[in-house]
Amino acid sequence: MAEIRNCPRCGRIFTYISSPICGRCMETEEDEFKVVKEYIYDNPGATISEVSQETEVSVEKIMRFLREERLEIKSENSNLVLGCERCGRSINSGRFCENCKGQITEGLKREFGLEKKEPVQRPQYKAEKEKMYTAERRRND
Ligand SMILES: [Zn+2]
Ligand SMILES: [Zn+2]
Repeated sequence: MAEIRNCPRCGRIFTYISSPICGRCMETEEDEFKVVKEYIYDNPGATISEVSQETEVSVEKIMRFLREERLEIKSENSNLVLGCERCGRSINSGRFCENCKGQITEGLKREFGLEKKEPVQRPQYKAEKEKMYTAERRRND
């Protein structure tokens, strides 16, 4: 049974299959994506706002293409940089820099107990400390 939805982009009613937006919007988006990609390819030094002006695709959309990792910025596209959402370091695509990605993964691992836990107290260390303490006291006596 076909599901009827309202397209969140244009408000038109469409038959939902697998995409959350209607076929017409999907086509438009594909076209926009292609135009942006070609423009960046031809103009490696362009900034996001320049790309937006020239392609008439909104900055938000270009940012989204970048964040969705559909558009990968090459090293020569130095003006098209995104900031890591965690530390602000410039990144080429996605939301986080490699460093933060690693840290986030580590954090998750620890949270879910996937990493071996350090023993809270090392018995050996404690015994040694006690020995030292008694030895010192004896010396003072
Ligand atoms: Zn639509
Ligand atoms: Zn970062």
